[in-house]
Amino acid sequence: ARGLVKTFDVRRGLLRRRVGAVQAVADVSFSVGAGETLALVGESGCGKSTLGRAALRLIEPTAGEVLLDGRSLTALPPGALRAARRDMQIIFQDPFGALNPRMTVAETLAEPMLLHGLADAGDVGDRVRALLAACGMQPFHAGRYPHEFSGGQRQRIGVARALATRPRLVVCDEPVSALDVSVQAQIVNLLQDLQAEIGAAYLFISHDLAVVRHIAARVAVMYLGRIVETAPTAEIFARPRHPYTRLLLEAAPRLRPGARSRTVVEGDPPSAMAPPPGCAFHPRCPMAEARCRIERPQLGRVGGADVACHFAEAAPTPQDEAPQAEE
Ligand code: SF4
Ligand code: MG
Repeated sequence: ARGLVKTFDVRRGLLRRRVGAVQAVADVSFSVGAGETLALVGESGCGKSTLGRAALRLIEPTAGEVLLDGRSLTALPPGALRAARRDMQIIFQDPFGALNPRMTVAETLAEPMLLHGLADAGDVGDRVRALLAACGMQPFHAGRYPHEFSGGQRQRIGVARALATRPRLVVCDEPVSALDVSVQAQIVNLLQDLQAEIGAAYLFISHDLAVVRHIAARVAVMYLGRIVETAPTAEIFARPRHPYTRLLLEAAPRLRPGARSRTVVEGDPPSAMAPPPGCAFHPRCPMAEARCRIERPQLGRVGGADVACHFAEAAPTPQDEAPQAEE
């Protein structure tokens, strides 16, 4: 994705008069390799889900370009975009809302395969059973409806449906956040197993840093519609360089896969309708100086990371800080 922007009009009153605009995603660029997982983290409302949907053209980006295997998705006319859906899928947080309640599991899984010509009436049953097995479900589940399953099983079906077409890119939008902790690890492992098999790129949206640490090769941190830091996972956890990343990590109570760790940073994020000038993080930043209120920092390389902070070079080294106890 290059320079992705998504702006929403804000309308009020009976006449729905336009009173302003929210820049939910502001000039975001990133890449994910085949078989790689890039995690997208940040507080709710920072634009993670909007970015994921804009990247897949589930909502139209206001500006910018998305390339999948070198082909521009943003330039595709509607018919070609429908065909390209085979290569890009999304897994939602709420598997129940994402599944058609009137379709059996077999119908749900057969639909994308038939639509994209990956199976025909003769072999689609076998394909569905194989897919169910790969997702840890039993053959008799094929004839059942979504309401007959637990949340974890429903998410297995959601994963199966998303991966039925062997996509190149999958946006996983908080895929385990609604699940019990005991089930989260199963779904994360399932996602990893399937990724190893089909080599899909995952954009993994999450606020749960324990899960992110487990599944992602790289992490991108978003704040008010912009990526403020990107680094390999080990690097960002060992040495977060953006002050916001540091606060996010400090706010995560336990960095262990499966543990509940909602990240909450002191103070509310400012409104995306009126983002602060300069560095948008300055009203909450413990390191802010006069320059930060005027000049917006650009992403720049610092060590193994890309960081948008005027003082990223001054980020404390891990030795400067008290050792963190890890469970
Ligand atoms: Fe804080 Fe300034 Fe860096 Fe923004 S640019 S994160 S306000 S130190
Ligand atoms: Mg979201």
